[in-house]
Amino acid sequence: MREAQQRILSHFKPVETEMSPLNACAGRVLAADIISSDLPPFDNSSVDGFAVIAKDVASATSASPLTLSVVADIPAGSSSDITLAHGQAARIMTGAPILNGADAVIMVEDTDFNNRNAGTSAPEIVKVFKNIQTGENVRKRGMDIKTGDKILFAGTRLRAQEVGLLAMLGVANLSVYRKPRVALLSSGDELAPVELRLAPGQIHDSNSYTLSVLIAEAGCEVLTLGIAPDQKDAIQFLFDQAIDINADLIISSAGVSVGALDYVKEVVESNGKLDFWQVNMRPGKPLAFGGYRGVPFMGLPGNPVSAFMGFEVFARPAIGRLAGMNTATRPKVKVRLAETIESDGRESYLRAIVEERDGVLSAKLTGHQGSGNLLSLVQANALLIVPAGVKSLAIGDQAEAWML
Ligand code: AMP
Ligand code: MG
Repeated sequence: MREAQQRILSHFKPVETEMSPLNACAGRVLAADIISSDLPPFDNSSVDGFAVIAKDVASATSASPLTLSVVADIPAGSSSDITLAHGQAARIMTGAPILNGADAVIMVEDTDFNNRNAGTSAPEIVKVFKNIQTGENVRKRGMDIKTGDKILFAGTRLRAQEVGLLAMLGVANLSVYRKPRVALLSSGDELAPVELRLAPGQIHDSNSYTLSVLIAEAGCEVLTLGIAPDQKDAIQFLFDQAIDINADLIISSAGVSVGALDYVKEVVESNGKLDFWQVNMRPGKPLAFGGYRGVPFMGLPGNPVSAFMGFEVFARPAIGRLAGMNTATRPKVKVRLAETIESDGRESYLRAIVEERDGVLSAKLTGHQGSGNLLSLVQANALLIVPAGVKSLAIGDQAEAWML
């Protein structure tokens, strides 16, 4: 299993990088480290109020307020060249730069300017009702991040907060990995597209849908090739299309077991090579990996749940590496079992619900674990991992689970 994963991974390296505008970067993978400048970029006020010299108002109380003359008005987005002298204050808004000489900001609520409209101009004098510490209500330049700090690393997938931080730094264009192109096909004479009514013996092709979503969510472009019937020529025709559209990876489902009509492996073998066939996991085997005319090929099992698990265990890490990501795995948690579990000694991925009970994460299975029963995967929020060699687990035993 691990060996199979490692062998597959060793065939992948990150795709090329490209420049992208920031507003198109959500979900993309950063290709270069980002070094910060000071944030915030200048000393600024964290409140609406009056910038003062803290010592000046040391004795202020509501019973005996101190009066300062207001010498400047600094709305957000402006600045003042004035240097504050003793006995003086400047009206200042949240986010506006602290003027020279001032070392604290007294909140408007702690002055006699309190109840007046914020839209009015600054008063000529202000009465201060409270003392204040030096530095209070001042956000110092570089307080959050210092110039030169490495704040984002190549290989990071950009979420809303990373995109926002880049915007703070004024990064309008940045180097990201291009999206890997993953060609996807389903194989089997029994499959019909979802739009069509089923003839006797047919089923709808669901794997194309499930896998498209997984591939797209993993940050790739999905090139859907459709359904290949169980005929070598037709399968080859679709594989060749994947080559024409410069796929970085071809993923198929079904057609790689030992059934007499499983032609996918023959087609791949005669146009490239295949690495191995059976992996000791449940559900999931058979799995094929190789190359079709130089493009990596992964053949997942046909059963809908097996195809999903095969993707999670083998395709996700490979796609993550293609996409330039440092880590691509699902978050893993330690859980306690809420029921006994029997296994057959193969590494098993069981559909489970993980929820907190009395302060610990507890796992129970979602019922019938048949490899065609997608509903039990719909009901699951986790995959419970039963390691190879383990045949039974008792209530209260600890195990690991991937959160879905
Ligand atoms: P195979 O690997 O071709 O032996 O297929 C195993 C099982 O998965 C069979 O019951 C197939 O009908 C089913 N199957 C194969 N491909 C798909 C698909 N794309 N969508 C849904 N079920 C499929
Ligand atoms: Mg088949």
